[in-house]
Amino acid sequence: EQISLHLQRLWSPEVRTLEPYVPGEQPKLDNLLKLNTNESPFPPSPKVAEAIMLALSEQANLGMGSSLRLYPDPDASALKHAIAIQQKLPVEQIFVGNGSDEVLAHIFKAFFIQDKPVLYPDISYSFYPVYSQFFNLKVVEVPLAADFSIDVSGYQQPNGGIVFANPNAPTGVFLPLDKIEVILQQNPDSVVVVDEAYVDFGGQSATCLIDQYDNLVVCQTTSKSRALAGLRIGMAFAQPHLIAALERVKNSFNSYPMDRLAIAGGVASFEDQAYFEQTSQQTINNREQLVAQLTQLGFEVLPSKANFIFTRHQQYSAAEIAGKLRETGIIVRHFNKPKIHNFLRITIGTTAQQQRLIDRLKEVIQ
Ligand code: PMP
Repeated sequence: EQISLHLQRLWSPEVRTLEPYVPGEQPKLDNLLKLNTNESPFPPSPKVAEAIMLALSEQANLGMGSSLRLYPDPDASALKHAIAIQQKLPVEQIFVGNGSDEVLAHIFKAFFIQDKPVLYPDISYSFYPVYSQFFNLKVVEVPLAADFSIDVSGYQQPNGGIVFANPNAPTGVFLPLDKIEVILQQNPDSVVVVDEAYVDFGGQSATCLIDQYDNLVVCQTTSKSRALAGLRIGMAFAQPHLIAALERVKNSFNSYPMDRLAIAGGVASFEDQAYFEQTSQQTINNREQLVAQLTQLGFEVLPSKANFIFTRHQQYSAAEIAGKLRETGIIVRHFNKPKIHNFLRITIGTTAQQQRLIDRLKEVIQ
């Protein structure tokens, strides 16, 4: 809905020029197959619902004082502790927030400086330009190489900031850790943020580099591999001096990063490592199957280490294919952007969901 310029006069000038982030659509269609926002096709660990119910129950309220009447723990210590065990990191190297989008906002505020540019790939997560504008930052966009990989020689930004997703979004292409080390070494006075929202599907996390590099921040989420997009839990991992800066920013906004139910559910998810490993592996298997099926239909698929693939057809335009899929309730992501307008980003589904996609694609591509 448009708000009139007359009413917008009451807004700050910054808000008037802000371009809001538009998340992938969440349409309400019958028989919908949603392959557009990289959610997990699997439910979360059953232990998550159990833990949330327990946190709500009378018994838990009396026994452990976890009543919703009380504020949550401002440090979310139980959650940090569960993450610490799973990640094999000390608690002092962990920060948590309401989804990695919020964690990224705190990172931008804490480390990126107004007159020193923040550098990121020209094709990457669309939130980076949104935050840069929000925090009034100068920006340097470095083009991806012709094969859509990150060419580290262009990642030099003394005294500024660097952020990229690994695997990258929306391409799914993974940058090996030795290349990340080059970026870290080339930029000792800039914070380098590796956004690992999709790292659990065959990529390798940069968390093993944290002890060596005092300028590295690794960001992760429970929204993809732990199927908890609805609970909003994101994490950052770094040396304690960087975590301290994030805590300072967080406390100046809101000292309760997570609510009690998110903490309870998050702890249960991190404690159920077997379920996490099994569903992540299933996603990888389904991805390899989908790549093979799409290749047979004449699609070119970029090498993906994510829970989605990025693909284009030799003959049919991405807009046309997306439109025809939509007619039968299958939603995939199409970006109206230079360089990638002919690609589709398709989230990995269950084998049955993917079969429905392939059956429909066979009708579209004759
Ligand atoms: N980073 C990247 C690269 C993403 O694609 C997403 C999901 N849209 C996020 C961060 C944010 O995820 P969340 O806020 O759900 O943790």
